[in-house]
Amino acid sequence: SVTDQAFVTLATDDVYCQGALVLGQSLRNHTTSRKLAILITPEVSSGMRSVLRSVFDEVTEVDALDSADSVRLALLQRPELGVTFTKLHCWTLTHYSKCVFMDADTLVLCNVDELFDREEFSAAPDSGWPDCFNSGVFVFRPSLKTYNLLLQFAAEHGSFDGGDQGLLNSFFSNWATADIGKHLPFIYNLSSSAVYTYIPAFNHFGRDTKVVHFLGATKPWNYKYNLQTKRVMQDGTTSGSFHQLSFLALWWNIYSASILPLLE
Ligand code: UDP
Ligand code: MN
Repeated sequence: SVTDQAFVTLATDDVYCQGALVLGQSLRNHTTSRKLAILITPEVSSGMRSVLRSVFDEVTEVDALDSADSVRLALLQRPELGVTFTKLHCWTLTHYSKCVFMDADTLVLCNVDELFDREEFSAAPDSGWPDCFNSGVFVFRPSLKTYNLLLQFAAEHGSFDGGDQGLLNSFFSNWATADIGKHLPFIYNLSSSAVYTYIPAFNHFGRDTKVVHFLGATKPWNYKYNLQTKRVMQDGTTSGSFHQLSFLALWWNIYSASILPLLE
């Protein structure tokens, strides 16, 4: 049934909550029939928690789970990714039969409830290494058994990239070859930066994009936005071309219209 299925996201601080709120609002705008759940850590402020409760059906506090693997994380130049191990807690939401996890830096452009027709473990290819899936959008079945196996696997093997994506790819290691039904089309997790490595494909297929993923160090909330002109402003440190800017403008439209009023 649809009431025991949920979209799940994660935010470990008030900054990532801004992304989670835009994601949640985008799912609401496209009238999802599923529940909206968010995992947070103790750092999230009480003011933010009450705003989260106005967009999400369920706000669950979990402990931060760090991969404690500073060597591999340093290789990635992304020390903040250790907290993404916290993602594994999503398998503990066993009051749902099936869930779709979405990073807080994703945005849906249309209703994507058909994702619940997929089975664990379904995900889209990563644009950097397509035999790996990107762990920003995936279909899973909450299960304490799986959760414990994941923790055990993490303790024994660590993660080849220091984050959840390396761990999950090693754990669900037959994803690349076993079942094409578990390969989500790239339009369910389109990384806005990957577009520019294959522009003709984006021009051909990009209009069907269903989920945008603002992967990478610069997130939508790091840009400046002019509330009067409704334009995303670029400075010397941020670069982006037309499509990237139009996805950013979509994010900022939702943020300024629906989220900022809640935060004031
Ligand atoms: N995340 C978080 N706090 C952090 C870093 C990450 O809550 O400090 C969560 C958030 O849901 C985020 C996800 O973990 O979308 C994955 O991290 P991120 O999106 O920054 O990684 P990327 O997709 O850029 O590789
Ligand atoms: Mn992400």
